[in-house]
Amino acid sequence: MLSAHTPDVMKPSSSAAPDVIRSFSPTTGDELGSVPVMTAAQVAATVARARVAQEKWAQVSIVDRASQLLRFRNVLVDRVEEVVAILGKEVGKVRHEALSHEILVIADVCTFLAKRAERILAPQKISLHLLRHRRSFVDYEPRGVVGIIGPWNFPFKIPVRDAMAALVAGNAVVLKPSELAPLVMLKAKELWEASGGDPDLFQVVTGFAPTGRALISADINYLIFTGGVETGRRVAAACGEALIPCVLELGGKAPLIACADADVERTARAIVWGGFANLGQVCTSVERVYAHASIHDSLLARTVELANELKQGNPVTEVVELGSIVLPPLMDVADKHIADALSKGAKLCTGGKRISGPGNHYEPTVLSNCDHSMTVMTQEIFGPVVPFMSVTSDEEAIRLANDSHLGLNAYVFSKDTAHGHRVAKKVQAGAVIVNDVLINGGCPDSPFGGIKKSGFGRVNGEDSLRQMCTAKHIMTDRLVVASEPFWFPYTDKTYGLLRSGLAALFSGKGLIGKIAGWFL
Ligand code: NDP
Repeated sequence: MLSAHTPDVMKPSSSAAPDVIRSFSPTTGDELGSVPVMTAAQVAATVARARVAQEKWAQVSIVDRASQLLRFRNVLVDRVEEVVAILGKEVGKVRHEALSHEILVIADVCTFLAKRAERILAPQKISLHLLRHRRSFVDYEPRGVVGIIGPWNFPFKIPVRDAMAALVAGNAVVLKPSELAPLVMLKAKELWEASGGDPDLFQVVTGFAPTGRALISADINYLIFTGGVETGRRVAAACGEALIPCVLELGGKAPLIACADADVERTARAIVWGGFANLGQVCTSVERVYAHASIHDSLLARTVELANELKQGNPVTEVVELGSIVLPPLMDVADKHIADALSKGAKLCTGGKRISGPGNHYEPTVLSNCDHSMTVMTQEIFGPVVPFMSVTSDEEAIRLANDSHLGLNAYVFSKDTAHGHRVAKKVQAGAVIVNDVLINGGCPDSPFGGIKKSGFGRVNGEDSLRQMCTAKHIMTDRLVVASEPFWFPYTDKTYGLLRSGLAALFSGKGLIGKIAGWFL
């Protein structure tokens, strides 16, 4: 029996939208609870409350804000099993991954921000290269209310990660979780409040897509969206209409290049983990492998062997490696990609079909003999399907890796790290990891985000924390004079002075020009 997660329950048309979302386990089909579908008026009222709370929060020092993040972290660590349980029930996430991909990452994000935010957001002094009679400073001021619209595949880590960065920077957050995982986000809010956080600073609006649209139009100051490419287009258009800046974290089609000198055992293990963790429902999953012909067969054989060892089942009651497919239509998507590939000459090495019985389960699937005429190599799968293609050189692998409309993560495997680094520089992606997979998703220090249609803007890293703020430029004077050469009145004399200044400063000729050149 498949779960009660049917497309109709999940994606109602707005005209037929119910006033509650019922949350079901994708593993057992059991109903877990329900949450209200919030109207646009309720969303606007929530944002207004957040704004009032934010004005006070902005006056709190960064050090004290950071302490609140640490209190949240401590409550999270104490109550870890509650979060593991809800992730297992609501999105069929296995315990190890709930712990390491979601909770551990957030504990580290809080710690990182608590340690570094004060330095990263410290006012900066700019030495102006020309207007030396002035002093310039940049203050990083909170934007106000940050909206966060999240996906269901990492329903805790992704929105909470962005919320922590926004909060430490002095903003309030209003989070719109996926309709498929509202209970996880309400648990996050419960922990925030249990840690002593102001409830109005961390708010959750539940509902379907119209609730997300309402959030964008509710006078927020910044939006961080994580989701699919097509939704991303609509969100960007809505942000354009509302004239608010946004970060778009969209889909991926991560290539893995296995060079001739790759360590076959490590690469095979990385492919299996990177392709099948969270059953492939990861934006940075290994979605295509380009293996050098000299190691292709041994790498493929070992990958298949390891894939066949994985155990799939109910993550709440069993210790398994693979949990559930959250969105049943994704199994149809996998079926279609596989059928297309097989019809064009691909070979099914293992897997290839859904598993009957309770829950939404799909066999880990490995295909070989693939090429770019097949959709499995060119479109995001978001399921446990890893296609292999044999290549004869690094150049061919790089060309194929770059032959994509997406560019989020990419992976290169080579025993020679310097060689791996050289290949990485030529691959078009937001991040290229040498001899590892997925790892940067848990790295708060480094920027994360895509190029091409994988989106724009970044989360994590110092720049993205500053982006949670407006950079306010304050300029003061060093010496006060009655007037400036650019000011009125305009006369032939002042024009002549400006001309002489231009020649002296920018012509590079003559002694004065040369001296000026040293300073500019
Ligand atoms: P969706 O794009 O379907 O939904 C994302 C969120 O947007 C959900 O909360 C959804 O609400 C909401 N939403 C839908 N329509 C609108 C709208 N018009 N205006 C505002 N909000 C809207 O993505 P999924 O949840 O299915 O996530 C899977 C996708 O996310 C994959 O493509 C994956 O690659 C990508 N992803 C990207 C990551 C990255 O960091 N780059 C990380 C993780 C996933 P509702 O669910 O209620 O419809």
